[in-house]
Amino acid sequence: MESISFQCSPEQAQDEQFIENKLRADSGIKYPKKIFYRWKKKSIDARGRNIKINCTFEVANNTLPSHLHDFNFLSVANAPSIIIIGAGPAGLFAALRCLELNLKPIIYERGKDVRARRHDLAKLNKEGILNPESNYCFGEGGAGTYSDGKLYTRSKKRGDVEKILQLLVHFGADDAILVDAHPHIGTNKLPQIIEVIREKIIECGGEIHFNSRLTDINIEQKQLNAIQINNESWKSTKNMILATGHSARDIFYLLHDRKIRIESKPFALGVRIEHQQSFIDKLQYHNRENDQYLPPASYSLVAQIDGKGVYSFCMCPGGIIAPCATSEQEVVTNGWSPSKRNNPYANSGIVVSIDPSDFKEYKTDPFVCLDFQKSIEKACWEAAGENQKVPAQGLADFIDRKKTVSFPKTSYFIGVTSVEMDTIFPAFVIERIRKACLEFEKKMPGFITNDAVIHAPESRTSSPVLIPRNPETFEHVDVDGIYPCAEGAGYAGGIVSAAIDGMRAVNAFFAKIEKE
Ligand SMILES: Cc1cc2nc3c(=O)[nH]c(=O)nc-3n(C[C@H](O)[C@H](O)[C@H](O)COP(=O)(O)OP(=O)(O)OC[C@H]3O[C@@H](n4cnc5c(N)ncnc54)[C@H](O)[C@@H]3O)c2cc1C
Repeated sequence: MESISFQCSPEQAQDEQFIENKLRADSGIKYPKKIFYRWKKKSIDARGRNIKINCTFEVANNTLPSHLHDFNFLSVANAPSIIIIGAGPAGLFAALRCLELNLKPIIYERGKDVRARRHDLAKLNKEGILNPESNYCFGEGGAGTYSDGKLYTRSKKRGDVEKILQLLVHFGADDAILVDAHPHIGTNKLPQIIEVIREKIIECGGEIHFNSRLTDINIEQKQLNAIQINNESWKSTKNMILATGHSARDIFYLLHDRKIRIESKPFALGVRIEHQQSFIDKLQYHNRENDQYLPPASYSLVAQIDGKGVYSFCMCPGGIIAPCATSEQEVVTNGWSPSKRNNPYANSGIVVSIDPSDFKEYKTDPFVCLDFQKSIEKACWEAAGENQKVPAQGLADFIDRKKTVSFPKTSYFIGVTSVEMDTIFPAFVIERIRKACLEFEKKMPGFITNDAVIHAPESRTSSPVLIPRNPETFEHVDVDGIYPCAEGAGYAGGIVSAAIDGMRAVNAFFAKIEKE
């Protein structure tokens, strides 16, 4: 088997006959009879007017061996157990790793299973009624379930990334995610994959308890001793993987109350901007609009403004802006898209890096960044009115400091209220976003228009709090048996890196019990 790479046009990349002829030609006369091949890597190069697809194929003169990994999940009903708090990507992939290492995972998840959760999301989107325990962030699959499912990560752990993608394919994702340079799954497909993962965990003897919130922790002599679920039942345990995500503020307060060290950490905050997808396609694909051979286009923007980074975050081509608050009296936005990315809108966070040292109490108060995040979400709720409406402003009006009188249709189902962003955000955030948009306009002419609508806020980009852990044992620096993990603890950002961190936490726990 060998690898053959070439560039071709988007049309040719979808033409089987062209590909076969090209592979035969490029490989000399090695495959005179039949040629066997499959995609290995695929990316788009849209820098020049002549858009190219970078293609790499695996080629052989016989049937290719399978490129899919085999996984050996053990029967763990009677194995040593470990408690996992949270069934997001970190918690679920931690549980899968337990099945490989002959450990029994016992998951407690505050939200509902994916199906029941869907009803709460429908109510939220139709009526603006928020369930604080079951929403876009809380429930089976965590914040990743009803997301775009972008699987691109900056993680350098290539082997780990490959394993997460292989596991997703094993549980039902399209194997194109192994090939695409920027793979994604889509909101319509993720819930089924999560369900199949859950079924496997239960079939192997693991446990998943929904509607089960961690409410207290008992520590004895710097060692975890017991945990409390739903303010009532206490469970003795010496070990717990804490994978509760960046929106579980109650966990940060609980740890602080129990004198378990937490620290403030940098995060990013700003707005979500929605353009017409056709405009982004035209711009990125040099006027090739609605092209059947190209996927909806994305963008990635960054500018340094007055010493701080301002950048696009979690861009969703063909996407929808979603209400992602987790408590009453706050408004939060994020974006998702279906697998085909076929909505007429393109949205992206435009965010500013926020550092604890931006606030004068940063040396003493671990909640400085969290408090700031909360204050912006509350200000948005107060400004927008009621029922999860969001404050909004036309992008051109924002640049001109004008209130917007009328909006184009936006994807945000619940509706928008016209608010000037300067009345919500402090100048050190909003002025930087304004200046950054002027820079972005130079890179993407037409970016600033009233056809683009700012929705506020984009505030849950990553955790504003760090739960410090020992880099080798993965245990909390002060308390044995607590394994702070993934996005909520400050060690991951995104689905894939959270899943990797969940698995690595289990590896660390396994190494400890092997030694004992
Ligand atoms: C709308 C949306 C779109 C997104 N799009 C993408 C994307 O395209 N690509 C990407 O990589 N990332 C995306 N993200 C971010 C991604 O979902 C997160 O980075 C990822 O889910 C973090 O995984 P996690 O397991 O660390 O935490 P989470 O996914 O937040 O999971 C934590 C889980 O813990 C549970 N929990 C919290 N507190 C408790 C408690 N006290 N007791 C019991 N359970 C508790 C929660 O209910 C939740 O299920 C998106 C997020 C949202 C909201």
